[in-house]
Amino acid sequence: MGTLTGRVAFVTGAGSGIGRACAIGLAAEGAMVFVTDIDAPGGRETVAQIEAAGGLATFRGQDVTEEDRWAELVQRVMDLYGRLDILVNNAGIGTSGLITDVTLEQWLHQMNVNVTSCFLGIKHALPAMRSPRPDGHVGGSIINISSVAGLGGSAGMSAYCASKGAVRLMTKAVAMECAAMRDGIRCNSVHPGIIDTPIWQKLDTSGALVSAVTPGANALDVDVIGAGAPVGHAGKPEDIAAGVVFLASDASRYMTGSELVIDGGWTAH
Ligand code: NAP
Repeated sequence: MGTLTGRVAFVTGAGSGIGRACAIGLAAEGAMVFVTDIDAPGGRETVAQIEAAGGLATFRGQDVTEEDRWAELVQRVMDLYGRLDILVNNAGIGTSGLITDVTLEQWLHQMNVNVTSCFLGIKHALPAMRSPRPDGHVGGSIINISSVAGLGGSAGMSAYCASKGAVRLMTKAVAMECAAMRDGIRCNSVHPGIIDTPIWQKLDTSGALVSAVTPGANALDVDVIGAGAPVGHAGKPEDIAAGVVFLASDASRYMTGSELVIDGGWTAH
């Protein structure tokens, strides 16, 4: 029996990178995983990988910026399984560019996908997590994927840093609120460093940005940037999933409002 057998987890952005690894990791511990992503083929592939390993998962398409869809999907989870134990707010995008070049439209989109999504997810998941469960389990675990960019600044990443800093403090405020209500629901943030996922290929690699972030480089190469971590290399999505599984499980029952940094020493300087 896994540490999460019988639990139900909702993971956003689970069709790629860190979200996929989290979904696979949670399923390997016995959770039933509700996989969502705006990328339907990616989400279905995640479910296929979980099922091939003997786990349980289902996929639904979701744009995490849409409130109606959040309400619909949380209701769907309750109709199907009668419980929601774990929410991983992982879906995210990286808007890169010097602040003088970032448009208002880009800024608002960055905030919607990375910050408003967490607000909506938490708002709609909390009532479901507070519902009584057949096995008497009380509480839940909300895990928000922030970043080392939510702990310190990076040139060319002002919108992204602002979004991840907001996720960090929203996490703490929700943790305080749940603790005050004695509802047993914990809320923590995870702060990955440089992790080898497709997000790096989706960043704008304009010359001004690249030279600001990585002097001498002509592309945002995750291996080049990752080599700047004290351990000398980028991390893998599974490195983050291990922390998420820990925060989802009862092993972390006394942790709430905390920041789990998994960054190969990036922020230890
Ligand atoms: P990724 O491989 O690009 O995965 C992100 C997933 O989210 C993609 O499938 C993406 O779909 C999806 N997505 C984008 N916009 C969405 C929306 N509006 N609604 C629903 N899904 C949406 O990136 P990742 O590296 O795994 O990133 C996962 C999280 O980790 C993000 O919050 C990111 O900021 C954070 N993080 C990553 C790193 C890193 O170095 N990789 C470091 C620190 C923090 P599309 O491909 O169709 O856009």
